[in-house]
Amino acid sequence: MVGAWAVSTLLCYDRCGAAKLDTHSYPSHSVSETAGVDGPTETGQPEATVVVDTVSKHYTVGNRVTALDAVSLSLAEGSYTAIMGPSGSGKSTLLNLIGGLDTPSSGTVTVDGQQVSSADEDERAAIRGTAIGFVFQTFNLMPRLTAIENVALPLVFDGWAEANRRERAAGLLADVGLADRTDHLPAELSGGQRQRVAIARALAPDPALILADEPTGNVDTDTGGDILDIFDELHAAGNTLLVVTHERHVAERADRIIHVEDGTVRATESLTGAK
Ligand code: ADP
Ligand code: MG
Repeated sequence: MVGAWAVSTLLCYDRCGAAKLDTHSYPSHSVSETAGVDGPTETGQPEATVVVDTVSKHYTVGNRVTALDAVSLSLAEGSYTAIMGPSGSGKSTLLNLIGGLDTPSSGTVTVDGQQVSSADEDERAAIRGTAIGFVFQTFNLMPRLTAIENVALPLVFDGWAEANRRERAAGLLADVGLADRTDHLPAELSGGQRQRVAIARALAPDPALILADEPTGNVDTDTGGDILDIFDELHAAGNTLLVVTHERHVAERADRIIHVEDGTVRATESLTGAK
């Protein structure tokens, strides 16, 4: 079923150079651009979609916990990267900081030219709504909304007209193989189907970056394979992907594995030649 999909332009229809819907144009980003961080380089390298610069994160719950300790990394536009490490190593903390769900104790995070780390709550919400698609281990769908309503929800915040929202959401659900489940509630879907709805929702605003935290953690092995096949298709369509996992076989679908341990980057492994 999954293998039969055609990669539709909906998967990356604007950012990746395909035709733009003429019924809608994206609002320009409301957060100030960060000068000098990425931009096209003289060497012809692709632009960096994500730059994490010397980021630390401490929590104080009784004792002080250092979840991340001076982490730096960058993700090129169109790259597919996995973050791998044992439980408690700081993977989710790092993803949440990149995704603007939390702010670092020190250091900077830039996504799509916008400095997420210094943005206030409203600005971070705006960046999350337009530039970042988040896929969670536990799906995080709205239980009272149907599949199509869940997928269309980010477009409400992005100012789309209702007819256009439904059309785009229906197209994205078809792309992930759920054309016949648009009016089901999450409770009426299997775990794998819920995660596919969540992926369609993440793609709705055509984000610059797709983040996934243990996306196959709550689905069976076959379904997990289907989810990873979708990520392969998204990568092939030009999207920038960052997937957190503690499983080697999941990480190996990426071009590069960043190994984290005790809140630091221990090694970076390139897989491009191996596949
Ligand atoms: P991973 O995703 O790799 O399993 P996390 O990023 O969730 O690891 O956690 C890294 C460390 O930070 C752990 O020691 C964890 O207990 C701690 N931690 C994470 N979130 C919080 C929080 N909100 N408050 C306090 N400590 C936290
Ligand atoms: Mg985690």
